[in-house]
Amino acid sequence: MSWTYDPQNIFARILRGEIPNKTVAETEHTLVFHDIAPHAPVHVLAIPKGPYVNLDHFAAEASDAEIIDFHRTVARVIAELGLSGPEGYRAITNAGTSGMQEVPHYHLHILGGRVLGRLVEKA
Ligand code: 5GP
Repeated sequence: MSWTYDPQNIFARILRGEIPNKTVAETEHTLVFHDIAPHAPVHVLAIPKGPYVNLDHFAAEASDAEIIDFHRTVARVIAELGLSGPEGYRAITNAGTSGMQEVPHYHLHILGGRVLGRLVEKA
C-alpha cells in the first residue's frame, strides 16, 4: 500500500507554525491541541508530527519511537484532562471518504465530558 501525503493540509500548516493552535501537549513526535469546532466539552486532536495520512499509514510506516511517543502522550493527556476515570471518553479516527476524513493528516479525536451516544448512526 502506498499513501500520498499533502504537505499543504491544515495540520501540516499548524505543525509548521503557519496557523495557531491551542496546544494541550507537545513532545518530540506528537502534538495535541484543541479542536477548533468542539463536539463535546472536551475535544482534542492528537497528531503525529510526521507526514502520515491516516491510522493505517501511521501504524504501517511510523517508527517505533513515533508510535510509542504518540500513544504515551495520548495516555498522559487523557489522564491530565480528567478522562481516565469511569466516565471515560471516546477516541475516534476517520479515514478516507467512507470515514468522512476532512483533514488528510492522521489525527485521533479524544472526546469527553458528556455522554456521547452510540458509535455510529444506523444506515
Ligand atoms: P476529520 O473530519 O478529518 O476527522 O476531523 C478534522 C477535525 O479538524 C474537525 O473536527 C475540525 O473541527 C478540526 N479542524 C479543522 N481545521 C482546524 C484548524 O484549523 N484548527 C483546529 N484546531 N482544528 C481544526
